[in-house]
Amino acid sequence: MENEVFIKAENLSYAYEEDDGTPQKAVLRGVSLEIKKGEYVAILGHNGSGKSTFAKLLNMILVPDSGRLWVAGHELTSETFDEKELLEVRRKIGMVFQNPDNQLVATVVEEDVAFGPENIGVPSKEIRERVDKALETVGMTEYARHSPDRLSGGQKQRVAIAGIIAMMPECMVLDEATAMLDPVGRREVMDTVDRLRAEKGITVLNITHHMNEAVRADRVIVINDGKIYMDGTPDQVFARAKELEAVGLEVPQCTALIDALREKGVRIEGKSTTPEACADLLTRFLKKS
Ligand code: ADP
Repeated sequence: MENEVFIKAENLSYAYEEDDGTPQKAVLRGVSLEIKKGEYVAILGHNGSGKSTFAKLLNMILVPDSGRLWVAGHELTSETFDEKELLEVRRKIGMVFQNPDNQLVATVVEEDVAFGPENIGVPSKEIRERVDKALETVGMTEYARHSPDRLSGGQKQRVAIAGIIAMMPECMVLDEATAMLDPVGRREVMDTVDRLRAEKGITVLNITHHMNEAVRADRVIVINDGKIYMDGTPDQVFARAKELEAVGLEVPQCTALIDALREKGVRIEGKSTTPEACADLLTRFLKKS
């Protein structure tokens, strides 16, 4: 179970079409990857590199032009894949998008969270339990009877996440889910994701622009021009600062600081992507000198 593959893509390609149906330049050009159950993966890439398009293939908002794709044991590209399987896949893979206002549909927080499970026919007693637990997981229990209108951006995204948790998905895809939030809201959402992983072990894909979010993942995949450009641990990926810069990306500030010190001839050893790791390196260095 531990090493079970949750998402497998084989040579996926996708091109949007012009209004007259002619294909544009391909946005995804031969993407192959495997994501294991329980992995926490950050997906990076500059604007327009194809990250959202990839996410939309995962729950069949879009259908690939060629290649094969498996999600949660279902082959989405198989000839026999049907509507019933599609609902199953969509239940297993929850998506959180950029704008919290577009994701909340009800006038009361708890009704919003209940919306998903109601739609898939969960019995009402169980819905009550799921809603209460989901709101507890995202730390929004006290707002259960509030209107979503008055919440902060971070709180709204946490309610959106609660709505997904209530569907009991196996995977959550965050597509720039913190892009419209202030630093406090961003931290609230990222802490919620950490908690979800700890409590439920769900697979997480976080498409983000924030390097300090990417370093929280187990694995970082960089997409460039519709292809996988890098794939490794945060330490491995952020050690390649020049190659990241070449595709319009930066490294986390802590990594940049250590790199800049080395360029000035300071002989610090080791890698650092987080403030804690950076502090450790500097402390060791200062004690030694
Ligand atoms: P990212 O998420 O990395 O910013 P996207 O997957 O959203 O990239 O977009 C990749 C490319 O596809 C961009 O050039 C974008 O303009 C184009 N694109 C995205 N959505 C559509 C669409 N609905 N119709 C046509 N082109 C699109």
